[in-house]
Amino acid sequence: MTASIIDGFAVAAELREQVAREAADLKATHGIVPGLAVVLVGEDPASAVYVRNKLKATAECGLKSLEFKLSESATEEEVLALVKRLNADPAVHGILVQLPLPKQIDSDKVLGLIDPDKDVDGFHPVNAGRLSVGLPGFVPCTPRGSQILIDRIMPDLSGKTAVVIGRSNIVGKPMAQLLLQKNATVTIAHSRTKDLPAVCRTADVLVAAVGRPLMVKGDWIKPGAIVIDVGINRIEVDGKGKIVGDVDFDSAKEVAGAITPVPRGVGPMTIACLMLNTLDSARRSAGAA
Ligand code: NAD
Repeated sequence: MTASIIDGFAVAAELREQVAREAADLKATHGIVPGLAVVLVGEDPASAVYVRNKLKATAECGLKSLEFKLSESATEEEVLALVKRLNADPAVHGILVQLPLPKQIDSDKVLGLIDPDKDVDGFHPVNAGRLSVGLPGFVPCTPRGSQILIDRIMPDLSGKTAVVIGRSNIVGKPMAQLLLQKNATVTIAHSRTKDLPAVCRTADVLVAAVGRPLMVKGDWIKPGAIVIDVGINRIEVDGKGKIVGDVDFDSAKEVAGAITPVPRGVGPMTIACLMLNTLDSARRSAGAA
């Protein structure tokens, strides 16, 4: 069997177009333009690229972006004061603080100060709680995007088995919550799991969010399974840099029913869902949700 390739790039483009249309409607009916504030502290080059991509997508969707750059030596008080100001600004519907923050700043303290109703990254403990008890809130963008891809192939997961490898707060745990909401029987595997290949072979839906290049091999996969590869890993091949996922795509695609590639799989969905979360936030603030 050769798997169908899940084109996250194309689905993300569709989603961004949908956000652009709905944002234009919101402006016409309520006079509101969804506003996303992005805070970048320091000079980390990867963070600067991520922020640039997010701002570009924001503009393309017709949303308003506000960029705040603070120096590497910014104090925790300065960052907290900025977050407070953005919390109070009615033109700001989403606040994103790009991680990692310089070491003198406590990330948990900063993320914890963001108004949960503007927390479009979905990292605030209040939103994690809302997700776990099934209340409306912000779902972290990468799991939300992954779930949209899964929904397109298998909208009803009743009676299906899902395995998520990785238990981070931003990917693994919220991903497991979403799969549970879809009635899958969910296992979260992690670095202490025994016989990981055997656990993975039980999965009708397998999500890898580990950060280990090419770890999941074809013989770990149940024939016909949906495989969602969240990993983004930089490796060297023949002296050249290459981005690969956590799944060994070449062997996995021979066994899986459907699989996301890296790049052009989950990555573009993450940014599209940030746009979607910002639109949702503006709609809620306008009472148009
Ligand atoms: P993390 O380091 O916070 O968590 C990794 C998890 O993997 C941990 O829970 C750990 O227990 C588990 N793990 C580590 N080694 C393992 C092993 N050998 N066997 C089984 N489990 C193991 O990482 P994260 O933030 O959740 O990100 C995971 C991957 O997803 C990374 O490659 C990251 O770059 C990528 N990522 C991609 C996107 C995207 O937009 N596509 C977004 C966020 C993260």
